Amino acid sequence: MLDPELAERDPDVARLIADENRREHETVRLIASENYASRAVLEAMGSCLGNKYSEGYAKKRYYEGQQVIDEVEELAIARLRRLFLEHAGRPMAPDDLHVNVQPYSGSPANLAVYLAFLKPHDTVMGLGLPAGGHLTHGHSVSITGKFFKSVPYGVRREDHRIDMDEVRRLAREHRPRLLWCGTTAYPRTLDFEAFRSIADEVGAIFAADIAHISGLVCAGVHPSPIGVADVVTSTTHKTFRGPRGGMIFCKKEHAQAIDRAVFPGLQGGPHNQTTAGIAVAALEASQPSFVAYAKAVVANAKTLAAALLERGYGVTTGGTDNHLMLIDLTSKNVPGKAAAQALDRAGVVLNYNAVPFDPRKPFDPSGLRIGTPAVTSRGMGKAEMLRIAEMIDRVVSAPGDTDLQASTQAEVREMCSHFPAPGLRL
Ligand SMILES: *Cc1c(COP(=O)(O)O)cnc(C)c1O
Repeated sequence: MLDPELAERDPDVARLIADENRREHETVRLIASENYASRAVLEAMGSCLGNKYSEGYAKKRYYEGQQVIDEVEELAIARLRRLFLEHAGRPMAPDDLHVNVQPYSGSPANLAVYLAFLKPHDTVMGLGLPAGGHLTHGHSVSITGKFFKSVPYGVRREDHRIDMDEVRRLAREHRPRLLWCGTTAYPRTLDFEAFRSIADEVGAIFAADIAHISGLVCAGVHPSPIGVADVVTSTTHKTFRGPRGGMIFCKKEHAQAIDRAVFPGLQGGPHNQTTAGIAVAALEASQPSFVAYAKAVVANAKTLAAALLERGYGVTTGGTDNHLMLIDLTSKNVPGKAAAQALDRAGVVLNYNAVPFDPRKPFDPSGLRIGTPAVTSRGMGKAEMLRIAEMIDRVVSAPGDTDLQASTQAEVREMCSHFPAPGLRL
């Protein structure tokens, strides 16, 4: 009994984990950035690899005892390189693609790009947060907006698509050192080649942040910035369906700058248990079943968006090319937050979100963001998407009706019982 299991050692934490396990099983999870990591990924993450300190990189470490860790990191890198070269935006020799798997998550991966290429107060351009960009692309509350000069670009008023004419005009005017293309709430295909040509014209580093779409990119379901951008960052836990972590791909010429920015520039020891989880996720993503998964994620998003459109909801840009959609509730006269909270009580979990040019405040905006990566991991398909659209409509139409929320929640639970989710214990 020197080493009892969690339930014995700490019933409180064990109960909380069991509660979350049940919540994730019994609800329809539509948060666009979330997924279900497989049991194999979870096992790697819960392993003894997290006990080991390994500052540095394979064969260049600061502590002894790296016999196993070096192999883990090299395996993760080799698998990612092979996987992401398969659908590269421009062909690349394997030796020209450098991979760093040590960033603790997506935000630290992006910080490493700043540290590698910029000096304080240099100019950065990224999609503005209200238009669907990420905090780390220069938003005012982020360190990236405080320590650098940020020039955000937006989407067009007419169709809510990224305005490449504006990107070019602002880039010519402000000559950014760094140009980001990456989104957190944008439903359309990103034109990496167009960003490349603008970056070339003004002499900027072009960084693509594929945090949300890396699972679609490696499956060939969204165009790839590999070989096009100077550097590509990503999380590993969104559509990629791995552990919570980050990764950076770059051209060989930037390898040293990126590696030094991650360690010793920003971080200490890498999370080796996460690195192992990334290796497992890369193996899973290289199976034909993952390509089918990525295609189904997009097909499900298109079905759900069309069904909501049909029920009179505003869908920004009129639909989606990827795993998510932005719903504008203005026509329904329900604010985003009230709708999201009513849906949560009904077992349909998503987040309120600003829509482009939102007249309402960020803490209570006009819209909802809906994503299909998690429900697709459970094997849900067209029939379930149509049912989910009906349930969303029902609950949003009467956000104060708690009886309706309770009956919908029971229906959700019943539906979910037919779709066991990867990684969960039943
Ligand atoms: C999620 C996201 C990140 C940040 O990832 P964290 O792991 O939450 O730090 C960065 N960029 C984009 C575009 C994202 O969507």
